[in-house]
Amino acid sequence: ADCGVDRGSENRLFRCDMADMSKDLFAKVQSYEAYALRQELELRNLLPYFRTVQGPPCAVTMIGGAPRVNLGSSNYLGLSGDPRLTEAAHLATQRYGTSINGSRLMNGTTALHLEVEAAVADWFGEEDALVFSSGYSTNLGVIGALVGPQDVAVCDAGDHASILDGAGLARGRLLPFRHNRMDRLEALLRRAADSDGGTLVVVDTVYSMQGDLSDIVGVTTLSRRYGARLLADEAHATGVLGPTGQGVAALACLADAVDLRMGTFSKALGGSGGFVTGPADVIDFLRVQARSFMFTAAAPPSGIGAALTGIRIAQSAEGDERRQHLEANAARLRTALADLGFAVPAVSLAAAGTQVQTPILRVPAPDDLTAARMWKVLYDHGIYVNVALYPAVPKGQSQLRVSVMATHTEEHLERVVDAFTVVARKLAVVDMPDGA
Ligand code: PMP
Repeated sequence: ADCGVDRGSENRLFRCDMADMSKDLFAKVQSYEAYALRQELELRNLLPYFRTVQGPPCAVTMIGGAPRVNLGSSNYLGLSGDPRLTEAAHLATQRYGTSINGSRLMNGTTALHLEVEAAVADWFGEEDALVFSSGYSTNLGVIGALVGPQDVAVCDAGDHASILDGAGLARGRLLPFRHNRMDRLEALLRRAADSDGGTLVVVDTVYSMQGDLSDIVGVTTLSRRYGARLLADEAHATGVLGPTGQGVAALACLADAVDLRMGTFSKALGGSGGFVTGPADVIDFLRVQARSFMFTAAAPPSGIGAALTGIRIAQSAEGDERRQHLEANAARLRTALADLGFAVPAVSLAAAGTQVQTPILRVPAPDDLTAARMWKVLYDHGIYVNVALYPAVPKGQSQLRVSVMATHTEEHLERVVDAFTVVARKLAVVDMPDGA
């Protein structure tokens, strides 16, 4: 309808009757910290974000109108796009509809949600599990429900945003410690022990940008010593590491020393939704206290149906085979990139003193613009990777995030190494120290 407003004659971004324009909330949309960088990257056609994907995130994916070897997805086992998961998603949709249209509490608990919860608890050897709409909302809900005004959340500074946000939303105190520094963790635990409330330690078991592992022995030992509860985020380890893909705590034989483990269906398992698993009484408490569980629509049946099939495959002999391929691919690419002079850190499990291959490779870049240039050279050579800049990583630690899949073939990896050889030749980015 014509409401008599001439939209062409005014700058709609600003309210004309506001005396002090800087007080307009919308003023920040053209002055936020990353705005200039984004504009510069856009101008040079170097913007690595919001690229349009035209197919499932398989080993080779249609991205930006061309097939590219995909190292920018967390589809580690290659299950997303697998016909068995697609079929399971179809069946679930036929049975339960395209949307749940309500919360788990009111009308969103299907038999499928219960089945996947039982499957997760059984897989991890825990009493019970609770499924959320995403991994992000799982961390928000669990931390928000457990950490009250008297309590303290102690988090690794490299933890995923959902953990730091969850700790921020919780009414207690958030104490972050320097990445993987057990001396700092101990100092904070000592401080927290003097407060009136309880303490929740939260760590990623595989760090999503660095691709390194938590010092799970140190974290479990200290949490126990200071009477803190421990929540481990196994998002990037679920289906990937440990026996039958149970994750890092199980790999280190420390599952019993972790109070709660959470994960997501949206990475190796090829579905969508998040979960937390642990003692039945705690899970039951979360069922009626976790706000991001109670006040949002349940994960769609398609994502849960696919996840259930993904779990079955991850637990099977085929899952073992896929993990072996994944490990071999990660080892091969780590070595090849290191041989080219890229400072890709090796990953080891302090507990076992053994080398562990996570599927996430951090390739350090000297600065934001060079990171985008590296990305573009790879992109133009048919290789898709992710670029992580502040605030996804600390300031001054821009990087490429390269993640392998079990389904990448030797030929795919050869193409990746060839493209990185061009990056090394064109840009001064090799033999630089890793700033991590
Ligand atoms: N935890 C970690 C460590 C993650 O990396 C992510 C996703 N990047 C999440 C939680 C959130 O999972 P989801 O994407 O299912 O919300």
